[in-house]
Amino acid sequence: MADHDVIVIGAGFTGLTAAVNLIEAGLDVIIIEARNRVGGRVESEYLPSGIRIDTGGQFLCRDMTHLMETVQRYGARTVFSHVEGEQSYRPAISPERGETIWNAVERLREEMLALDMTDPALARLTVGQWIDRQTEIPADVTGSFRRLVKGLWCRAPEEVALAYLVSNDRRITNVYPELEMFLGDTMHGLAEKLAESLGDRLRLSAPATSITMMEDMAEVDVEGRALTARQVILAVPPVMARRIEISPPLPDQLCKALAAWEPGCAIKLQVGYQRPFWRDRNLSGSVMWSDPQGMYACDASHDTYAGIVVFLGGPLASLWHKKPQAELAAFVTAELAMALGEEAKHPASVNIRDWVNDAWSDGAYSDVITDIDATDAEAVLLQGMPRLNFACSELSPSFPGYVEGAIVAGKNAAQSVLQILRK
Ligand SMILES: Cc1cc2nc3c(=O)[nH]c(=O)nc-3n(C[C@H](O)[C@H](O)[C@H](O)COP(=O)(O)OP(=O)(O)OC[C@H]3O[C@@H](n4cnc5c(N)ncnc54)[C@H](O)[C@@H]3O)c2cc1C
Repeated sequence: MADHDVIVIGAGFTGLTAAVNLIEAGLDVIIIEARNRVGGRVESEYLPSGIRIDTGGQFLCRDMTHLMETVQRYGARTVFSHVEGEQSYRPAISPERGETIWNAVERLREEMLALDMTDPALARLTVGQWIDRQTEIPADVTGSFRRLVKGLWCRAPEEVALAYLVSNDRRITNVYPELEMFLGDTMHGLAEKLAESLGDRLRLSAPATSITMMEDMAEVDVEGRALTARQVILAVPPVMARRIEISPPLPDQLCKALAAWEPGCAIKLQVGYQRPFWRDRNLSGSVMWSDPQGMYACDASHDTYAGIVVFLGGPLASLWHKKPQAELAAFVTAELAMALGEEAKHPASVNIRDWVNDAWSDGAYSDVITDIDATDAEAVLLQGMPRLNFACSELSPSFPGYVEGAIVAGKNAAQSVLQILRK
């Protein structure tokens, strides 16, 4: 007989949500996590001043209803992002020109979303190839669209499968800005609150190395120690799932579905200041870079902290990953000085979190499908196999790649496991 009803592998928001839901439904669950903390791609650090900052997933908006519900349930405090004031551009362009380009990029994005992906002319295309076909559209607009892909999906458009991006972006349905708010005690603090109810059912520093599928149970090997359960939820991103040895070997279709993904490349900087000096110049603190592509900044200040968060995504993050962090800090503060004012050169704190090749996620914000033939990869993974369920934000029917997506994926995985076990 199996030791447990369910083993959940991974204590990110997907795994935590699945575990909490299954325990509340009365099942015997164990959740194992490779890192020595919960949260996965949501994590935090304390600055020397004692302020806690999110170094991974941070922002949310009202459209993310499952996350908002979790925020309310655990009594987390939301802080609205400061958006008043003018948007800055690097290199500098007039606000009018910036807005015109941005509106044209949004129209191009709408066109992409409306594509009929059953059209054979769109088969086996990368996003880059599709952009190249938009010859009627001004170069600064297509250039900004490439920047958007690098910044949000954190890979070069030439690598990303068009069918994947269309399907993924159709599920990101927010009407409010996605950076609308964040949590005063960090998103990571919310992950910790979810974990509190798990007690000793949560095991940290417990990486799953292999899974053996048996007749009526599955055995998960945690560094030489075996745990068994009737069902396993593999709540890790696809690139991490393929590192776990599974025997007997997965069917070809599942192997191909797992092989279709590559991790995004992202670096997040939190640059703290004595005060939000940019507001004196009526600047919002939001900066869009068209050169280099894949860089974006915004104001992440709250009552006890003044600061700008800077994201580097795609090839730019890969490039800086290879260079000393002190050089990156100097580059970013110099860029911020040109956008927001000379004071930016004198930060009170600079925190750099490089997610490229991260030990337990291999990247961020999300894995993306780069195999142009893998149009059924998500469906195949969601189908899983008897006793083995794949779940992660990437596979969510809504807000894939976001914390909201992880919560939805966790709830759905718990639901389908419950249905199987109650049959
Ligand atoms: C820098 C950055 C900024 C982001 N910004 C935002 C944002 O502002 N808003 C937003 O909504 N989202 C944001 N995201 C994305 C969001 O954080 C993720 O989509 C979400 O947290 C993914 O949750 P998950 O549980 O599906 O996966 P993960 O968080 O990756 O959880 C998987 C867990 O599995 C563990 N694991 C992996 N392999 C094993 C193994 N073999 N054995 C045991 N455990 C294992 C990992 O350690 C991890 O804890 C950001 C992410 C990053 C990194």
